[in-house]
Amino acid sequence: MPILNGDSMASSATNSVDFSKALEVLKNEYPERDGIDIKTLLDSKNHGGLTYNDFLMLPGYIGFPAVEVSLDTPVTKRITLKTPFVSSPMDTVTEHNMAIFIALLGGLGVIHHNCSQDEQAEMVRKVKRFENGFITDPIVISPTTTVAEAKALKEKWGFGGYPVTENGTLRSKLIGIITPRDVQFHDNLDDPVTAVMSTDLITARQGIDLKEANQILTKSKKGKLPIVDENGNLISLVSRSDLMKNLHYPLASKLPHSKQLIAAAAIGTRPEDKNRLQKLVDAGLDIVVLDSSQGNSLYQIEMIKYVKEKYPGIDVIGGNVVTRDQAAALIAAGVDGLRIGMGSGSACITQEVMAVGRPQATSIFNVTSFARRFGVPCIADGGIQNVGHIVKGLALGASTVMMGGILAGTTESPGQYFIGQDGQLVKAYRGMGSIDAMEDKKAGAGSANSKASNAGTARYFSEGDRILVAQGVSGTVRDRGSITKFVPYLMAGVQHSLQDIGVKSLTELRQGVVDGSVRFELRTASAQAEGNVHGLHSFDKKLYS
Ligand code: GDP
Ligand code: GDP
Ligand code: 5GP
Repeated sequence: MPILNGDSMASSATNSVDFSKALEVLKNEYPERDGIDIKTLLDSKNHGGLTYNDFLMLPGYIGFPAVEVSLDTPVTKRITLKTPFVSSPMDTVTEHNMAIFIALLGGLGVIHHNCSQDEQAEMVRKVKRFENGFITDPIVISPTTTVAEAKALKEKWGFGGYPVTENGTLRSKLIGIITPRDVQFHDNLDDPVTAVMSTDLITARQGIDLKEANQILTKSKKGKLPIVDENGNLISLVSRSDLMKNLHYPLASKLPHSKQLIAAAAIGTRPEDKNRLQKLVDAGLDIVVLDSSQGNSLYQIEMIKYVKEKYPGIDVIGGNVVTRDQAAALIAAGVDGLRIGMGSGSACITQEVMAVGRPQATSIFNVTSFARRFGVPCIADGGIQNVGHIVKGLALGASTVMMGGILAGTTESPGQYFIGQDGQLVKAYRGMGSIDAMEDKKAGAGSANSKASNAGTARYFSEGDRILVAQGVSGTVRDRGSITKFVPYLMAGVQHSLQDIGVKSLTELRQGVVDGSVRFELRTASAQAEGNVHGLHSFDKKLYS
């Protein structure tokens, strides 16, 4: 028996209490669950629109370890990711490097379009070439290619293993293979590759499945396994390093048939964006994001219909939206996913300048509860500052969250680190509607360049305006190290949070919110102060190790 305090009331009351009945009493006498359901929480008749900081979830029952919590979640009607993290199409956030690494970690990077069409297509190509099952369009060289040319090709493509075929093309007779080691110390650069290539090749026959091909590759101790037809013509190639990538990144967002990383990129909705899209599709694009701050426009609706008709294999994410009405228009036009948020981004001044927008929690709830009826997954875009915000976005109904500022300080974002005003290591981060981005001035991002296209003016409908009206600012964010550490931290954090809520997956979270078993609580200003570190003389906020 627990020893209670000396209060006679307490002890006499407890003397007559049957503790074993606690659960029964709860069930019979408290029909209403503790806390409030999501509808009551978001009912704007009770208060204005809510932001992430205005509420909390109540804890549930933990009967499982956090590592067992599944974060599988759809990003479009057809494509599911293993983690709910999407990086924003901003020129200080997502180029090919970010897109590759966030995809390897189970998320998705949306490549920005504040660059020329060819530059953006090249970035998509790099994502698609990064990992493969069967490489069905390998770079092939001819017997007359010189050692110097082979070295130059390695510079261009990043890999140096090239099959050599009789006439230098795929589907021609395979006669050898050269690898970086064959040419590395070969001084006579004008020699043909036939002088240094390996000819004792281990190959496999067309029709073999990837598992078997991988087994041969593993046993052969070679770096590449060329696949040939019955006449010895080269059909495709399998690379050992892809096996390693698969081993190191088990959550990678890949298409099941090709094992290539999923590539997403943003475009605008002007006529020339159709040209841009064709180039992106030729480069292997899987998902296109129509990038607009206010998605409910004639241009976007026409563009959605155009893409769905011309490229049925490409998934289209529309947006941005914050109301049911906006969402309905884009869903009716055929979107495969929606992006939610207006004015909640960290570098954003839309709500202040335009007086238009909506607090993010309210936006997410209103849009997702509608889109859910049509099976359209939604991305909560902007305003994510910590793990808690991610979980709240997901609890409100979003399937994934899109992050800009929080990822801009990582090694994989474009641009160089520099020392900021306070002596800390920082990187540039700017809103795409900032004057800098709209005028396409370099922000240390190393990417903003071509005046041929300006994503900022297109996204914020300022093209052709004599005066550019800024909807974003330009600044810096602090160094966050590599996303190969940061994203696993976000993932573990979300898993622990779901464990506290008592749900084993994002699907269970969504179900629990809808059926009212996941409970919420509003947070007053003083509750927010209580929930933050307070009363310490000084402290160090280290988030993970
Ligand atoms: P998973 O991709 O590992 O989840 O498993 P699958 O059943 O889809 O993979 C089938 C086979 O392909 C297994 O032998 C995997 O190891 C292998 N595999 C998966 N990804 C890749 C890849 O990127 N490249 C290569 N060469 N093999 C892969
Ligand atoms: P290499 O030995 O220098 O060719 O390069 P790696 O061992 O690092 O592997 C090459 C990587 O590039 C693998 O992940 C391949 O899937 C990828 N890749 C994409 N396209 C091609 C291609 O056309 N040829 C080769 N060799 N690799 C390719
Ligand atoms: P963050 O993660 O930094 O809070 O927000 C990123 C999101 O802010 C982007 O995905 C995009 O939707 C939005 N955004 C980016 N640039 C601007 C801008 O200049 N103005 C506004 N209003 N939003 C922006």
